Formats: sequence, C-alpha cells, structure tokens
Amino acid sequence: MVEPLPLSPPQFGCPIPVAPGVHWLRTPMPFALDHINLWLLEDGCDFTLVDTGLASEPTMAIWSELISKWGGERTLRQLICTHFHPDHAGLAGWLVERLGPRFHMSREEWLTANLHRLDVGDEAYRGAERFYHCVGIPAERRPEITSAFFGYAERVRSLPRSFQRIRDGDRIEINGEPWEAIVTLGHAPEHVCLFNPRHKILISGDQVLPKITTNVSVGPWEPRANPLGMFLDALDSLRRLPADVTVLPSHGMPFKGLHARINQLQAHHDERLSSLRDGLVQPTTVLASLPLLFKRQFAPHDERFALGEALAHLNLLLARGQAVREESDDGVWRYRRV
Ligand SMILES: [Zn+2]
Repeated sequence: MVEPLPLSPPQFGCPIPVAPGVHWLRTPMPFALDHINLWLLEDGCDFTLVDTGLASEPTMAIWSELISKWGGERTLRQLICTHFHPDHAGLAGWLVERLGPRFHMSREEWLTANLHRLDVGDEAYRGAERFYHCVGIPAERRPEITSAFFGYAERVRSLPRSFQRIRDGDRIEINGEPWEAIVTLGHAPEHVCLFNPRHKILISGDQVLPKITTNVSVGPWEPRANPLGMFLDALDSLRRLPADVTVLPSHGMPFKGLHARINQLQAHHDERLSSLRDGLVQPTTVLASLPLLFKRQFAPHDERFALGEALAHLNLLLARGQAVREESDDGVWRYRRV
C-alpha cells in the first residue's frame, strides 16, 4: 500500500520536520504542478540542502527570508542537486554565490545543465527544428515548439563554476552519517537519489513520485535513446531498499510503500506500452500516436513533453522488437507494430 505520511504539507517557505534530522521545505511553481519539495538536512550547526527550487522572484524571496532568519548563525554547508532541471537546480549558482556551500552533482547532470545553457545558437535551433519535423509537426507549427526547447538559460540563470562529482554508490557524509547516492537513469541523464540506511530514508527526487508519473522523454539531442527502458530498470533496482523506507519525493506527499508504488508505476507503463503497440496498425507518426497514449489534448507548451514521452514509449517498443520505424522520403518517422 502507498501511504502518505500523516502530515499536512508545509506552507511555502516554512520548513517542518519530516524525518530524523530532515526538514521539508516547499517552494512555489507557476505551473499545473504548483510546488517542489526541497529537503534541509541538519548538518552540525548548519544545513545540507537537496535541490533549490526555481530561479523565480517568489523562490528567491523565500530563500532571502530564510537566510535572514538564520541570522548568520547557520548557513548551507553543502548543496546537492538531484538533477539539472530548473526546479531542482535553478538557484544553485545563486545560493553558492551567496552562502558558499560545497556543491555536489553527478557529472552528466552538470554537463547537461551547461550544455542546455550554451547550446542555443542557429545550429542548435536547426537541429531541434529537424527533430520536430521528424516527429511529424507541420512546418507552420514548428517555430513555436522549437523555440520552447531553448528556455533553459532563462530558467537557470547561473550555475556554480565548479562542482563535486557524485557517482553511483558514493557515500556523502551529512551530520556525521553516510547517505548513499543511487544513480537512476531515464528521467534525466544521471539523476541522483539519496538513501540513509540508518533511518531508512530515501530522497527520491523525480524518480519515484507518489501521485503523478515521472516525465520520461526523448529529445532532439538523442532521438534514438531509450530512456524509458533505463527508467524502468532503475525503478526495479530500488526494490533492494527496505519495504518500510520513508520516501521523500520532489513533488507530492512523503510516503511509505515504495515497493507498492514501484508496482503501480510498472503496471502503468506496461498498460500504456500495450495500448500504444495495439494502435500502431498503420504506419503512425509520433504526433499521430499521442491519442493512443493520452486522453487529453495538449497546449503547445505541454505538447513538447507529450511528444517526448510518446517517443520514449515508441523507442522502448523498438528496443523490445514490438514495433519498427519506417523512414519515408519526407524524412518523417512512422512506427508500425510487428
Ligand atoms: Zn525533473
């Protein structure tokens, strides 16, 4: 059973204790998903912070107020970002400049964050536009969806100029206790979860969420990637953690019942993969496959994510030999079941 902890979520900017030595902080987001959970871990007389929130005025105001409440008596000793997405790393540069914590990230996340900030010229634009042609977006709608791909630099204004690399299995000492880094691939290139074996706490980032399913997406840089296969393998690998672990996710409520949630997520993707496969009777573009996976229509901003997710499912069907991709003279990819 998936059981939320018996707590009310904290007000934005007002941390509450959630597990031994761990405080739960929420900051706002201006999307349908309206918040992110951040974790302040007691570390001596200071804190280690996991993830930063968006680089937005409201989140910066929350941080300024918290820092002034600490009154110079506490600071951030370490900052750990689970992955490069703007809600997780948006203020990494800003916080490191202000408070000087040691900054930890996996190397692929660090490189990807930098690449997203730097790879914004004409060539990058043409590459992305070509990708949206291949997935079936008609010419007149391509500029809008292509431009949306390049919003990262505005959302992550600065990054720390150096970092300490996290690798799978590393132990990061926080408050004298080792937290094990568990790298889970699929949602982001080298996403990191953190596990405290003594108190049985898993900071799961976006890898395991209690209510919504994690976005697993294929994009212009690596159109043949199979991140959904990696994501499902990573979920499976988390079964080695104790059944009664407390899961602290980046969105939604902290909960118990990791193994039950893994079962639900695997069943969800199995179901979607088979309905997608069943629908690929005729050669179908990625765009035309969306109704086979999603019941709703998408606004242009969300359509980009939906396309990425659909392609992730299609590429997994290819990897399993359940579908083939046909490339016709127009360069558009079409998928058919086998
Ligand atoms: Zn994410």
